[in-house]
Amino acid sequence: MHCPFCSADDTKVIDSRLANEGAMVRRRRECQSCGERFTTFETAELALPRIVKQDGSRVPFDEKKLAGGMLRALEKRPVNTEEVEAAIGRILHLARASGERELPSRVIGEWVMDELRNLDQVAYVRFASVYRSFQDISAFQEEIDRLKNSPSPEERRQQISLLSDDED
Ligand SMILES: [Zn+2]
Repeated sequence: MHCPFCSADDTKVIDSRLANEGAMVRRRRECQSCGERFTTFETAELALPRIVKQDGSRVPFDEKKLAGGMLRALEKRPVNTEEVEAAIGRILHLARASGERELPSRVIGEWVMDELRNLDQVAYVRFASVYRSFQDISAFQEEIDRLKNSPSPEERRQQISLLSDDED
């Protein structure tokens, strides 16, 4: 990383050890340019990202709202609670594993649709009809056609994981 004193491009790690009972890595660095030393701490980013809504406003990730939306779509459908909880768990995992501080609500919506499509196609179309604000029956039909031809949730997840690259 850059030197915080002289902004030189490269600094050298001269010591690296675990801190905070292994939850953190503490590194001692030395600037090759000005010779200053400083310490960095590295921890896993596991907080849920904030959600960027369509209008650009930011709101905290709302786990209850996520579950509520999915349960509404699944109302009176033959899907057991464990499966729904597992699906919600996978969405939360994707959100944390993205490493992003902020995620567009659209991305979460796509993940929800991927999960619903696997759980129950009726629930999927219910959710998609609200989420995509279908205006008429032809939009509905398009979604049904999409359902028949779209990539599998696994393929889409891989596309998403390619979007989040690691930074050093
Ligand atoms: Zn320096």
